[in-house]
Amino acid sequence: MQLVFATNNLNKLKEVQSLIPDHIKLLSLADIGCVEDVPETQDTIEGNAIQKAEYIKKHYGYDCFADDTGLEVDALNGEPGVYSARYAGEQRNSEDNIQKILKNLNNESNRNAQFKTVIALEFQGKQHLFTGICKGEITMDKMGDQGFGYDPIFKAEGYDKTFAEISLEEKNRIGHRGKAVQLLVQFLNMQQ
Ligand code: IMP
Repeated sequence: MQLVFATNNLNKLKEVQSLIPDHIKLLSLADIGCVEDVPETQDTIEGNAIQKAEYIKKHYGYDCFADDTGLEVDALNGEPGVYSARYAGEQRNSEDNIQKILKNLNNESNRNAQFKTVIALEFQGKQHLFTGICKGEITMDKMGDQGFGYDPIFKAEGYDKTFAEISLEEKNRIGHRGKAVQLLVQFLNMQQ
């Protein structure tokens, strides 16, 4: 089975690749010659995942899946949510985004937050959605240098280390994207 993962994010590709069984050959956007920015202009996480997957199916003809992820912070009324990538501006810079969250939560004692990933799959003419949520909290400072994005300031519930301080395997086991990918894999395994 051959499937396109509609992302240019090498960190995501690495995370997801390690969870997909060997009999499913994962193609990246580069592999199919897609070099343009895939549009993600919707105002929900679900909407963006669907938009990206539909774009690849329509323009390149491949069965594919796309993910969209947002960090939802309780004390910020669910922000940055669908705007997580460009929270601090169109430069889409992770360090700037992290600093903006820490600044906005300055004196806030409620640090509860969750990561939410939605995967949209275009498969054999039908669309399927898989959602993974990981609850946790925003730390007071950055910790760790692994992972990407908001990982250095997010601790999963019951953990005393941030996502940037744990291994890729551990993050995949408890994390939002890992949970959504596990549902995707269960679905794909049932199709044979
Ligand atoms: P997108 O899903 O690529 O649109 O990601 C939205 C934003 O969330 C970007 O700033 C990413 O860096 C960040 N992000 C996505 N997934 C993760 C993750 O697993 N950990 C930390 N940050 C993430």
